[in-house]
Amino acid sequence: MRITRLVCSHCRATLSGLGQDKLFFCSNCGKGWVLGETGLEPVQVQCRASADSRLPLPFWMVRASVHVLKRTVRNEFTATMIQFGSRYEEGVLSSKKSETGGQLDKRTFLFPAFPVDGLPGIGVSLSRQIDSLPDVTGREGQLPDICGGTISLNDAAVLARCVAVGQETEKSDWLAEIEIVLSSVIPVLVILPCFQEVEKVVIAETGVSFFRRSVAGWDGIVDYHGSRT
Ligand SMILES: [Zn+2]
Repeated sequence: MRITRLVCSHCRATLSGLGQDKLFFCSNCGKGWVLGETGLEPVQVQCRASADSRLPLPFWMVRASVHVLKRTVRNEFTATMIQFGSRYEEGVLSSKKSETGGQLDKRTFLFPAFPVDGLPGIGVSLSRQIDSLPDVTGREGQLPDICGGTISLNDAAVLARCVAVGQETEKSDWLAEIEIVLSSVIPVLVILPCFQEVEKVVIAETGVSFFRRSVAGWDGIVDYHGSRT
């Protein structure tokens, strides 16, 4: 078992969080830290919540180059389903699909830095709303205290790819197969003010929400912020 002292290497303030946390934000100086193989490593941060936010939560914003190597689309989806049932027979249907690929574009993904049911779908919705995020605010002395960030840097890169796949399946065609690879991945820890409603939690001004019950350990996060309702 490895024991890491949770101290900000920049200002020496003690970092706090919950037992499983892998992401830390120094509410004294505003630096971000992620627990890696060798201890705490620095990570870029955008703090978009103020000290008086009742529920500041951690998110990953990941910029990456997205290579769509192969994208196969089925034509005549409805007709073939009626004709052949649910079986996909390559030989019979090979003429009924089209293949593209070789596209490369840069995308920015935004998704929770804590496990929540349906995370890729939340990521697809949230990534569309990046322009409606509150401004970067946090000044020294007015920074929020966060907890609950348990998704590591490596997992963030994997999840960014899941969100990219989610974006492809949302297009209005019948996606059959996709090969997608991300490169030049730049992760930034983003702190957003969230608002608890009866059953849901709304993420900043994005209009995107998730169910409280879909986050394991939600009560621990709420207890930490002392805002149980
Ligand atoms: Zn610090």
